[in-house]
Amino acid sequence: MEKKKIIEVNNLVKKYGDFTAVKGISFDVYEGEIFGLLGPNGAGKSTTLEIIETLRDKTSGTINVDGYDLDQQPNEIKKIIGVQLQSSGYYPNLTLTELIEMFGGLYNQEVKPLELLEKFNLTDKAKNKYKELSGGQKQRFSIATTLINKPRIIFLDEPTTGLDPQARRSLWDLILQVRAQGTTVVITTHYMDEAEFLCDRCAIVDSGQIIALASPDNLIDQLVSQGFERKKEVKKANLEDVFIHLTGKELRED
Ligand code: ADP
Repeated sequence: MEKKKIIEVNNLVKKYGDFTAVKGISFDVYEGEIFGLLGPNGAGKSTTLEIIETLRDKTSGTINVDGYDLDQQPNEIKKIIGVQLQSSGYYPNLTLTELIEMFGGLYNQEVKPLELLEKFNLTDKAKNKYKELSGGQKQRFSIATTLINKPRIIFLDEPTTGLDPQARRSLWDLILQVRAQGTTVVITTHYMDEAEFLCDRCAIVDSGQIIALASPDNLIDQLVSQGFERKKEVKKANLEDVFIHLTGKELRED
């Protein structure tokens, strides 16, 4: 069956003055997949994401999101996407329930704060203020809020940066759950284990260009077929496995 393209990016260029941060990249995202943009700092990932999210102007190129042209119908695009805000986007003194109600009002959506919080393992914090949350709870909450307008696509920019291994794994499970409900996910990350675990396909971006695009499995196979071998024999577990084994999978922050 032909997969449906939900995002089409063609020859996207972004210049900041004389500096070209995004140098004519093209890629498609299929409906229902988790698509990763990977790359070192400064590669142009956030710029690309924010242009698709309609938050930043592009210099040239075309973008189509679920049939809507970004130049013609940006407001239609805004209606069908969920964007993760930075921490500073939340009023620190409002409770989680109040924040969800506020977003519901902004998006003109009926919301059931407790149902949403329950999905994200935050029921106990319903009456807590945003500023009282731990790092992992803030990240979970920010993903929860991307779902308020019932988006077809959500964008997550480095969602697990700074989290401990338990909180990261719990967030990975949540992202899989969101996808299982039919939402397409576009994610940026620096963590290759995260990309390997979550992404159906990923684009590796370097200096504003896509230098590889395939499933994590295919990318690894391509490297191995070129004769690449790891210097050290791979053990059956890594240090993170040791850490999780010793400290447990349960979230600790609460
Ligand atoms: P990434 O998300 O991959 O770390 P960014 O998209 O944030 O990369 O940045 C790409 C490049 O564009 C970087 O060199 C960055 O310094 C530059 N850049 C980003 N935003 C601006 C801006 N508002 N003005 C000028 N340069 C910018």
